[in-house]
Amino acid sequence: MTAERLPNWLRKRAELSPDRVAVEFDNRSYTFDELNKMAEETARKLASKGIRYGDICAVLMRNHIDSVVMLHALFYLGVKIVMLNNRLTPNELTWQIIDSQSEWFISEEHFSKKLKQIDKGLSGVKILKKEEIRLFTGMDEARIQEEFILQETATIMYTSGTSGNPKGVIQTFGNHWWSAMGSVLNLGLTEEDCWFCGVPIFHISGLSIFMRNVIYGMKVILVEKFDETEVNAMIQQKGVTIISVVTAMLNRVLLDLGNNSYPDSFRCMLLGGGPAPRHLLDECKSKGIPVYQTYGMTETSSQIVTLAPEYSMTKIGSAGKPLFPSQLKIEVEGRKAMPDEPGEIVVSGPNVTMGYLNREEETEKAIKNGWLYTGDIGYLDSEGFLYVMDRRSDLFISGGENVYPAEIESIISQHPAVFEAGVTSTDDEKWGQVPVAFVVVHEDTETDEKELISYCKQHLAAYKVPGQIIFCSSLPRNSSNKLLRRELKKSLGARK
Ligand code: ATP
Ligand code: MG
Repeated sequence: MTAERLPNWLRKRAELSPDRVAVEFDNRSYTFDELNKMAEETARKLASKGIRYGDICAVLMRNHIDSVVMLHALFYLGVKIVMLNNRLTPNELTWQIIDSQSEWFISEEHFSKKLKQIDKGLSGVKILKKEEIRLFTGMDEARIQEEFILQETATIMYTSGTSGNPKGVIQTFGNHWWSAMGSVLNLGLTEEDCWFCGVPIFHISGLSIFMRNVIYGMKVILVEKFDETEVNAMIQQKGVTIISVVTAMLNRVLLDLGNNSYPDSFRCMLLGGGPAPRHLLDECKSKGIPVYQTYGMTETSSQIVTLAPEYSMTKIGSAGKPLFPSQLKIEVEGRKAMPDEPGEIVVSGPNVTMGYLNREEETEKAIKNGWLYTGDIGYLDSEGFLYVMDRRSDLFISGGENVYPAEIESIISQHPAVFEAGVTSTDDEKWGQVPVAFVVVHEDTETDEKELISYCKQHLAAYKVPGQIIFCSSLPRNSSNKLLRRELKKSLGARK
């Protein structure tokens, strides 16, 4: 079989629509032609230092136009890019650079403090900063990839490490291509589309926006940090039509929006990354905000299931149906689940990874006959809409009933005094396990254990009502801001 290939995406885009604005960053616009020239120039500079086709290069950079250029430059050279989360500690970063067997490490002055501590742990890795790369002389004879081979690795991205140690996910050009196709076949595309990127580009939610950017020829507004007031202004005044958010961001955006609304041109609030509390979806509904719930993971190179526009109001709480190129089934003990019966979410499609980098055993456990076992629990309703319930590893059994911590968290966080909640379980003589809730309350608000338990009793079956509420000032989260329930469990152990 001959390898499937496509022309180099940014080059092709620059040939097709050179004068169209590609990216807006820090009040400056860059056309596709400019972006292509900048990427090529940087690629030639990198090549002058010896970076070559097939090398592995870890990248630690902020959301910035220079980072977008750097990523394309590395694609131009056929370098496999390890996307490092810039919220990781120096030790975690060092671990990922070594684990991925990176030969190169590119960063920037901004991280100089972290860099000093990372340097010590890296021997044999060649380290470059963007500020010095700028000063290099470009190499004329650098080999620029005219084509991308779809089976080849484009990026290696570590999972968030919510359920255990992060794993390096191999994402090929084909995975990114099909992810972009799946998204556009669902959301559509107009000449006016402009995607706002306030999510990190080292995460698949952000990186995938920049794949769509060049593949669709669609403008992207990039910001270094997510700011809800800026987001609302961009939607109201600058023609942003689509934005990707996680729950915490949407919470802030809604608070800032108050009683104001969005123009009709705003067509998609893409909400993913974790469970969406019901009250948030209801609030969006009442404000007429087109929120599209989506389910995906690093292993699926962004969304794999998204709620189509026509169902966003009637199937509230559902993540939707698998995108056009992808498939999904729910499995219980090796058989296909019945409608509404919870089981493990299993997916396949050309956007799904071929496996974890240098982890054969984990890969074999996760991928069987071309299907990825996600470790998430959910069900399909009778019309085939997916409802994500929780991670299998967080599910527990109380008095013979399955309990999903996310459901309890969603209910508790609806209480007006509650800012956020995290639920885990503890051993219980009578029931086996019982839920325990950790709760952070809003400033200047008061509530107590009795009130919250009685609130839970009104909204949840008795076996889901926490036996104990523990008030705390914050919840343990990882560098992707995801709740670490295993840390809650640990702290319970420490309290005993
Ligand atoms: P690790 O695999 O290392 O434990 P992680 O799974 O948190 O980390 P990501 O790939 O960033 O790493 O996150 C994907 C996960 O996020 C999904 O497997 C799922 O558990 C959760 N998730 C994503 N979208 C949703 C959603 N719509 N509803 C509920 N959970 C979701
Ligand atoms: Mg995962």
